[in-house]
Amino acid sequence: MDRTLLFQNGWGKTIACAQDRVLIIACPARNIYRDGGLPTIQNRCESMAEEPKPQLIREKLDVCELDRARMSLLNPALIEQKKEERTIDENAKPILELTMREGIETVWDRYEMQQPSCKYCLAGISCARCTMGPCRIIPPNRIRGVCGADADLMVSRNLLDTIATGAAAHSDHGRDIAETLYLLGTGKTRDYAVADPEKLRKICKEFAIETDGKSPVQLAAGLGSALLDEYGMKRNTLRFLDRAPKATREIWDKLGISPRGIDREVVDSMHRIQMGVGADYVNILLQGLRTSLSDGWGGSMIGTEISDVLFGTPTITSSMMNLAVLKADHVNISVHGHNPMLSEVIVNAIADPEMQALAQKYGAKGINLVGMCCTGSELLMRKGIPMTGNHLNQELIIATGALEAMVVDYQCIFPSLPRTASCYHTLIISTSAKATIPGSYFFDFHAENAGLTAKAIVRMAVENFRNRNPARVIIPGEPVPVMSGFSNEAIKGALGGSFKPLIDLIAAGKIRGAVGIVGCNNPHVKHDYGHITLAKELIRRNILCVETGCAAIASGKAGLLRPEAASLAGDDLRAVCESLKIPPVLHMGSCVDNSRILVLAAELGNALNVPIHKLPIAGAAPEWYSQKAVSIGAYFVASGVYTVLGVMPHISGSPATVKLLTEGLNGVVNASFAVEPDPVKAAVLISDHIERKRTGLGI
Ligand code: SF4
Ligand code: SF4
Repeated sequence: MDRTLLFQNGWGKTIACAQDRVLIIACPARNIYRDGGLPTIQNRCESMAEEPKPQLIREKLDVCELDRARMSLLNPALIEQKKEERTIDENAKPILELTMREGIETVWDRYEMQQPSCKYCLAGISCARCTMGPCRIIPPNRIRGVCGADADLMVSRNLLDTIATGAAAHSDHGRDIAETLYLLGTGKTRDYAVADPEKLRKICKEFAIETDGKSPVQLAAGLGSALLDEYGMKRNTLRFLDRAPKATREIWDKLGISPRGIDREVVDSMHRIQMGVGADYVNILLQGLRTSLSDGWGGSMIGTEISDVLFGTPTITSSMMNLAVLKADHVNISVHGHNPMLSEVIVNAIADPEMQALAQKYGAKGINLVGMCCTGSELLMRKGIPMTGNHLNQELIIATGALEAMVVDYQCIFPSLPRTASCYHTLIISTSAKATIPGSYFFDFHAENAGLTAKAIVRMAVENFRNRNPARVIIPGEPVPVMSGFSNEAIKGALGGSFKPLIDLIAAGKIRGAVGIVGCNNPHVKHDYGHITLAKELIRRNILCVETGCAAIASGKAGLLRPEAASLAGDDLRAVCESLKIPPVLHMGSCVDNSRILVLAAELGNALNVPIHKLPIAGAAPEWYSQKAVSIGAYFVASGVYTVLGVMPHISGSPATVKLLTEGLNGVVNASFAVEPDPVKAAVLISDHIERKRTGLGI
């Protein structure tokens, strides 16, 4: 056999061989040989199937005893007070108490150390965009930056930057999923399959791809390619916009905010905020709406829909939630982040008998996979995998002392996690080249090496069980049962196959309307308080809540995702939930799955032949923190959904911008933002809005 050594490559490198014109992307084989003709990725990987090794990013972090002594609180009354001020999550409280006692720094400590906030940054009237600055607006004299930008321009540029960042994050996630579909279709990965061929065919038809006589794999190649084209500008429109009611699309067209290409809108936004380009705050804010639409009806929708194709469209499922889903006698592995590409293959690796046997060899009864934040919601929705918690729980799960590994992909991951983990035996395992974290162990995860990498990660976690100190393990309380998996398809299924019964219930006033409660946790707000108070106030008024992201997780921990929570709803909503055996708060998925809420609104609008803005629906983000949440809020409003924020964006330095977003937009997209930190008052605003919309529809 003529075996010619082609490459000797470090893990995860992308290398090209000019001689053979082969591009090799992160093949897990260290040495790659040629047997005659060109090697394929598949046979290279099979012949050299060897698990990859991680790379420690920079150096191992260590929080020294002195740092911890400085952070620790000695006054039990103060610890008690802070614990009650910081969270309403009962299972989190004992762990939070422990972190304060033992000096393990958390997000709340860092938040306190950052106070008081800079008032110029809070108002959005600081700018460090170029080196003629930085500049601040300080009336009456300093009313323009060095370049001449006034407060309106500074605020609007900062806001467009925020929206574009959020849209880019969601949409790049969507691209990773679309690329996986394409790689599956072109035979470049064998670690993924089409789990929902029916949905694949349906989406192919939307993209005018001929489906007759084609296998799912062939369709995956065609659709994957078409979806990747959505990111460019060849077509100058996005296919999924066609899902919106015609009258809503006409509003976008008339206003000139129909997105042309996903990447194009983000790049256009970045161009406008360069010094010396955008100078008109209205023009800049309208581009913000267009960019957000490219997220909601583009990148996020691709992320959701193709995740359903690859991993299965969620059906109603039961599971458990809160920190008590950890198991003292198991190897515990948490997946944290957003993209199900990684977490789905980790599920497969854990089921591997070799890994289970290894866990038992080290004295564990098995391997317990738990979710956190949005990647947790993806697994919960599709596989019923239990969830530990939401954004502000991420450090607390480590402080239980029971976590062998936290495996992260990207978004919402505190850069300080390796510091927290250094106080315990927990390994932080990073997996995205976009999100390497100093102090973490990094695997360069790709669709092409997914299975082997997942197995290497699980092996590393299992082997770390030996390092656990059982004396430091605290798993507080009992897990709360939850019902999840409410995709639009699942909701329709529960209603007998169409949304007609839901429309009839809304028309009859049994359900007054529906509200999407979305978004994050934020230490500006008591953890979970905004979400839970708002949801309870709304269901009490017979308003159905549909939730995603950390809002849905808050509801799960508080027991609102159980059918029994119907007892907290108004009489009419309670009767509906009891007859359908569903909770009054429906978990619809992760942050990108806010696109499910858009599709729900579009289907209701199409069924009634009205634009989205005429429907008795609203949005709310009581504890948002992220740029992604600003993009979500903007695409809700641009789509015609009145949206109430619980945290003020950094725009108060421009009264003109505030007026445009809270009033002026009504004149163009028939919806606007409101800001109301008190969730009880927010519920009143939303309820009044829904009643006005009902009147408008004559119901
Ligand atoms: S862009 Fe203008 S306002 Fe911003 S830092 Fe530069 S000079 Fe100052
Ligand atoms: S809801 Fe917010 S905090 Fe939670 S995962 Fe999504 S973006 Fe992150």
